[in-house]
Amino acid sequence: MFFRSLKGWRRRRLRSESFPETWLTIIKRNVRFFRGLGAADQAELLGHTRVFLAEKRFEGCGGLELTDEIRVTIAAQACLLLLHRQTDYFPHLLTILVYPSTYMVEEERHLEGPIWEQGRSARLGETGRKLGTVVLAWDAAKSGAADPGDGKNVVLHEFAHQLDYENGAEDGAPELATREQQLSWPGVMRIEFASLRAADETGVPTLLDTYGATNPAEFFAVSVEAFFERPRALRARHPKLYSELQRYFRQDPVAFSAETAR
Ligand SMILES: [Zn+2]
Repeated sequence: MFFRSLKGWRRRRLRSESFPETWLTIIKRNVRFFRGLGAADQAELLGHTRVFLAEKRFEGCGGLELTDEIRVTIAAQACLLLLHRQTDYFPHLLTILVYPSTYMVEEERHLEGPIWEQGRSARLGETGRKLGTVVLAWDAAKSGAADPGDGKNVVLHEFAHQLDYENGAEDGAPELATREQQLSWPGVMRIEFASLRAADETGVPTLLDTYGATNPAEFFAVSVEAFFERPRALRARHPKLYSELQRYFRQDPVAFSAETAR
């Protein structure tokens, strides 16, 4: 209890301090959605960013020299997912590993039946199973922030996984605050996931990245990317999915989106 309140006190103090001017310049330059937010949301985001940067450790990998630009650009995007909600700042996450660019991992791929293949594959980001680590490619994190309307954002994707796994299950469902939403969420997600799978199999073009057809956890992560990056299109084409996400995040990205007709 003492530690809880100490943590709360430290966070309140950090949020009330004035935000470093150099960091604000970075956010204004790199993080495009920031300009669309109202003044109160901007202030809330900066406060969260401040706490995030104080509590999480960043490590440069593959020769990357860490800078404030890297830390601040990643933190501000992750904190968009925290606005308007009670938050414990991705409590399991300790370290963000940042590579300069797409990085290679050794992995086993399932081919068919009992056949697996060992191979190298390229990644833009991943979240560790135990949630202690998020890995990101800096070039993808930066371009995702600069173009908030292309439907792709690796930072939002990986931090959506953090939210999903927080309650101990990688099932595409984060901690839902109300009984009403606990009842409505599973049915909507099941139908939307099934329709993405069907579209993926038949090759029908989709708004959602078909990587989301992999499993419900990836479905949630790509839905979060679309929710913040293509909110108008998502609301028009998947109104029920949009409204579940809107209720969970307590945000309406249509109001601040830089999405253009594509
Ligand atoms: Zn993923």
